[in-house]
Amino acid sequence: MSSVNEKIVYMDNNATTMVAPEVVDAMMPYLTDLYGNPSSMHTFGGQVGQAVSGAREKVAHILGADPEEITFTSCGTESDSTAILSALRTLPEKRHVVTTRIEHPAVKSLCDNLETLTGHKYKVTRLKVDAEGMIDMGEYEAALTDDTAVVSVMWANNETGNIYPVEKMASMAKERGILFHTDAVQAVGKIPIDLQKLDIDFLSLSGHKLHAPKGVGVLYIKRGTLFVPFLTGGHQENGRRGGTENVASIVGLGRACDLAAENMENENSRVRQLRDKLEEGLLAAVPNSRLNGHKTLRLPNTANISFEFVEGEAILLHMNQHNICASSGSACTSGSLEPSHVLRAMGVPFTAAHGSIRFSLSVYNSEEEVDYIIEKMPPIIELLRKMSPFWKGK
Ligand SMILES: *Cc1c(COP(=O)(O)O)cnc(C)c1O
Repeated sequence: MSSVNEKIVYMDNNATTMVAPEVVDAMMPYLTDLYGNPSSMHTFGGQVGQAVSGAREKVAHILGADPEEITFTSCGTESDSTAILSALRTLPEKRHVVTTRIEHPAVKSLCDNLETLTGHKYKVTRLKVDAEGMIDMGEYEAALTDDTAVVSVMWANNETGNIYPVEKMASMAKERGILFHTDAVQAVGKIPIDLQKLDIDFLSLSGHKLHAPKGVGVLYIKRGTLFVPFLTGGHQENGRRGGTENVASIVGLGRACDLAAENMENENSRVRQLRDKLEEGLLAAVPNSRLNGHKTLRLPNTANISFEFVEGEAILLHMNQHNICASSGSACTSGSLEPSHVLRAMGVPFTAAHGSIRFSLSVYNSEEEVDYIIEKMPPIIELLRKMSPFWKGK
């Protein structure tokens, strides 16, 4: 393992991001002097409550939402669970959920549990995806029934970066009186979002995917949408989420949203160009490599590339020796030898799915880092292929 001081090339931003220095600065007072409880009656606590309100406004702003539509949670996972379970509780006569085969485990395992842990009281439809990872809108339309309570479709996929047409899907759900949730953890800060005009009822985001700390998230709940809390307790968050607020992290998330809005242009021009250079460079330099995901309907920071006939884990270990951080499949699946459920749903052949590496950039990456990776990768793949029983020297 490299020491913490050694320079690393970090291209694993879909797993987690560096806390921005400006975010740390914004948080510090709330970890030191300003330790009051935001719910307290005294002025000392009240000023902390004002900081939480300020952060709520900043989060609302990046989403095109109203501050009262924003509820702070502990993470993206909590927001996902809260939204889907609330939808089912507010529409108790309906027993059907529509989702996709490429959701993050936060949504996927909740939906799996809804079937298995309730003795199949709920029925879940998981939409297929094509070879590029996209959904068939005809299949989606056909999946919506009178029994459907909620649709949960991610805005952007964490493994491929694919962007889904949630705006259109939400209005199709709304026409049928079905609630719509989107896991926008990977989308917020990378692509523009304006919820005011959309029929999205619930949206989840997570602080640590946009340069705020781990352990803070947001659930957007559209004004007028019925809601039942997941965590009950005190009257925090307008009675929508019990538990004393994670004030410093909430303040940090507010600052991170402002930064993300300022960096949106950079993300979609400079970061996109770096990603394209990396992707094109690797595909050109390494034979039998291929892109996983949609060529254009994709986040500007993500490139998922398969190097056929080699193991992703082995590639990562060699990359690690050059201080390059990336992922194989998703962070949550790299503990197992099963290829990722996302690549399997896309029908990526076994020999390619196993050798998939996800590079996810951020505004903190440079062109030198991209050049460094383009230089280091081809010899790694060549070396591993020489040892691979599947590689026939193509
Ligand atoms: C990281 C991630 C989550 C989970 O967020 P946490 O804050 O880590 O719980 C959910 N969905 C997607 C798409 C993610 O990338």
